[in-house]
Amino acid sequence: MSVIHILEAELELTGPGAVAAPETTTVGSVLRPDLPLARDGWGNPYLPSTSLTGSLRQHASKDRRRDLFGDVFKDTDNSDKNGREQTTAIASTIRVLGTRLALPEPPVMRRRHTAIDRHRAAAKAPTLHDRELLPPGTGLTCWLRIDTETTECPLVDEVIELLGAWRPRIGGGRTTGYGRAELFTVRHRVIDLSTRDGLRHWLTVGGPQVVDDQATVVYDRAQQAGGAPDEPYLFGRPLEFRIADALHIGSGTFAERAGRQTGVAQVLRDHEDTPLVPGSTWKGILRARVEFILRSVGIGNVCTSVKDGVAGSCGACVVCEVFGWTEHPGTTTHDDRERTKSVGARGRLLFADSPIRKGSVKVRNHVAIDRVFGGARDEALYAEETVEDGHLALHIRHDGAVPNVLHAALVLALGDLADGAIGVGRGTTRGYGTLAAQPATRDWLAAERATAVNTLRAHRAAAIPAPAHAIEEVPA
Ligand SMILES: [Zn+2]
Repeated sequence: MSVIHILEAELELTGPGAVAAPETTTVGSVLRPDLPLARDGWGNPYLPSTSLTGSLRQHASKDRRRDLFGDVFKDTDNSDKNGREQTTAIASTIRVLGTRLALPEPPVMRRRHTAIDRHRAAAKAPTLHDRELLPPGTGLTCWLRIDTETTECPLVDEVIELLGAWRPRIGGGRTTGYGRAELFTVRHRVIDLSTRDGLRHWLTVGGPQVVDDQATVVYDRAQQAGGAPDEPYLFGRPLEFRIADALHIGSGTFAERAGRQTGVAQVLRDHEDTPLVPGSTWKGILRARVEFILRSVGIGNVCTSVKDGVAGSCGACVVCEVFGWTEHPGTTTHDDRERTKSVGARGRLLFADSPIRKGSVKVRNHVAIDRVFGGARDEALYAEETVEDGHLALHIRHDGAVPNVLHAALVLALGDLADGAIGVGRGTTRGYGTLAAQPATRDWLAAERATAVNTLRAHRAAAIPAPAHAIEEVPA
């Protein structure tokens, strides 16, 4: 081991992202977010290098993971005298030395989330939670070390190639558009300890300065035309909508004027101050609608993923499989035998944030009606910002196979969205949140509809040999 290779990879978050640290939440605090960022000992946001290593390991081909990143496994060739398999651990060839964040201003943003009540089709009361996120544009540098015998080593070239094709995804919330990052540059510093210069450099320089001006740039995004490709679109294209009436997706904050709160509830905006529909909203309303459609036609025995008291997502139906599921803390019983071993699974569909283009933001006033005197009730005036027009694109990507039946249900759910049968954001029963499809998307939805209905029909006929009249019913 006389040659040390240091690779310095520079990444940038292209969307909000974070590694959450729920263990740091203090009990009973309303001022702190429910899902705070992981922080270092000085209180600065921090991305653990394990998060990056996991993403990179996942990107490597299966048969190379053990050689590059090590492994812990049950060894079948190596059993002890009682015939039991021994656990073998192989150390990782690549050592991840650490990460540094370059934070823009303001360094931390907050997002609120809630769950959809499947009966009222509106936000469910006790499920509001907020999480801290790093804003898009956050820079991230990460250092890898590989020790070899010689300066020229195919292993190092393999790692550089692996980095070049890597699509870094960091932290939680991947399926709602969080944690997307892009690799900008990789610099390679070879330190040959058998030479005088190399040894002096290694012994006298520490920290990030180890990668000095003698390093060579082995990857540069500017020369690679766009970097690693994104995950493929589920429908081969983004879907275009326009806002048919006012839309309000709250940020949970109030507008300020001259340093004072005005009491006007603000809409959620991205880091460029553009109003947006977050990926989590798309995922929530489409999941609820897909469940509704599949339950209505009686396919797949799908669960209601939000339910009072006991059950949550079942983890067994086709919706859980594609949208992901979690083991809710409230779902386990005191009896340990009934506890499932799994902690849930990530979904295969990825929903991105949709900024609203050319939307104008207005303030609307509302007041409650006094039920006795019939007029406006005193002190019940409130105001909220709404996006009155504009258009937006819905990006649904996938990184795993999506069954036909779910593909079909999703087409019908999107059709319902375009028809205004379901709305987005707040106040959908008061005429808020209706979207209309742009011409190209409308034509595409119309063309896909017949196939989708036929798929569900065929699936149902194959699953249940029901009487003929029961198969005729397909939801609008
Ligand atoms: Zn389920």
